[in-house]
Amino acid sequence: MINNKEIDKQYVANTYARFDIEIVDGKGSRVVDSNGKEYIDLATGIAVNTFGIADKEWTDAVTAQLGKFQHVSNLYYSEPCAKLAELLCEKTGAKKVFFGNSGAEANECAIKVARKWAQDTKGEGDYTIITLRNSFHGRTITTLKATGQDVFHKDFGPFPEGFAYAEANNTESVKEIVKSTKCCAIMMEMVQGEGGVLPLDKSFVLDCVEIARENDLLIIADEVQTGNGRTGTLYAYEQFGFVPDIVSTAKGLGGGLPIGATLLFDKVECTLNAGSHGSTFGGNPIACAGAISIISRLDEKTLNGVKERSEYIFNALNGAQGIKSVTGLGLMIGIETERDSGEVLKACFEKGILPIKAKTKIRLLPALNIPMDELKRAIEILKECAK
Ligand SMILES: *Cc1c(COP(=O)(O)O)cnc(C)c1O
Repeated sequence: MINNKEIDKQYVANTYARFDIEIVDGKGSRVVDSNGKEYIDLATGIAVNTFGIADKEWTDAVTAQLGKFQHVSNLYYSEPCAKLAELLCEKTGAKKVFFGNSGAEANECAIKVARKWAQDTKGEGDYTIITLRNSFHGRTITTLKATGQDVFHKDFGPFPEGFAYAEANNTESVKEIVKSTKCCAIMMEMVQGEGGVLPLDKSFVLDCVEIARENDLLIIADEVQTGNGRTGTLYAYEQFGFVPDIVSTAKGLGGGLPIGATLLFDKVECTLNAGSHGSTFGGNPIACAGAISIISRLDEKTLNGVKERSEYIFNALNGAQGIKSVTGLGLMIGIETERDSGEVLKACFEKGILPIKAKTKIRLLPALNIPMDELKRAIEILKECAK
């Protein structure tokens, strides 16, 4: 018998410590493994399948575009790319959008825009971007350097210069860097996802906005994980009471297809010009058609549904036996358990739910429309597993 696990182990690069589960099918918030066992999905492919697996609107949008053309290159105009950019700008107030294929690429674009903006407006040398300790911004050499966690830097140097790390929620540490270094931007996740699902303090974020205003710096919001309805608003920055200059996003944007977007607001609207950046697959019609079907559904009703589900989870888990803390925003939730989270996760898999980890926490990233009865059952199971 063909065993895909063995083939994978032999031929796929060893970059992932996969769980011993092979997914063969799914629908909505349910997935089925190769033994025919059903699970409730609480991770959505790491915040990617925004409305679950194979939801009808998304599938219809993608297959309709597949029936027309799959790709045309950026040498020509095409409707899905234009319409998605228009939709994102109308919903956020951004002026222009650059499309790439992943979160790391969206951040690479954000970093290039910040650097060029500084060149154009401030002159040579003001290239340093302040990022936060415990952040995560991607796996390319430059976005690894932007990532404020030393463990990720091991073995891959030398890195490009021009990043300085401040302590999250410590305004003084940002001020110190601004005082001693010529900077162009402050880059942050409103909720540090890979860092353990830790929302930044609102006051710290607003301090950074003020420091940026006083010192002529850009604010880059990395909304790769927090974006696209995940936290209960279209983008998480809305809940912090400011508008960034650049927003990078990916993960849930395409609803399951690879796409990244860098939203450019007023100050940097004209920073990129013909030839200054590009991507062969960027703005791919199928990915954009999928993304339009996602973004156009993130209306008040859907976002209220996210908040409702979020409240349910927080209320059910706060103070439950074996649970030390619950952090996060909307449907991006981190749970600190008394028992080792690896063991809790194993028990979850056995009992038929699929959360993931964030550092030593259990992380929940369910579909934004997970049916309430499935969510309730999943949370009951999680509570049992954490006991
Ligand atoms: C996942 C993630 C990235 C990287 O996205 P990829 O699509 O894996 O390149 C960057 N920033 C944040 C905040 C993320 O969560």
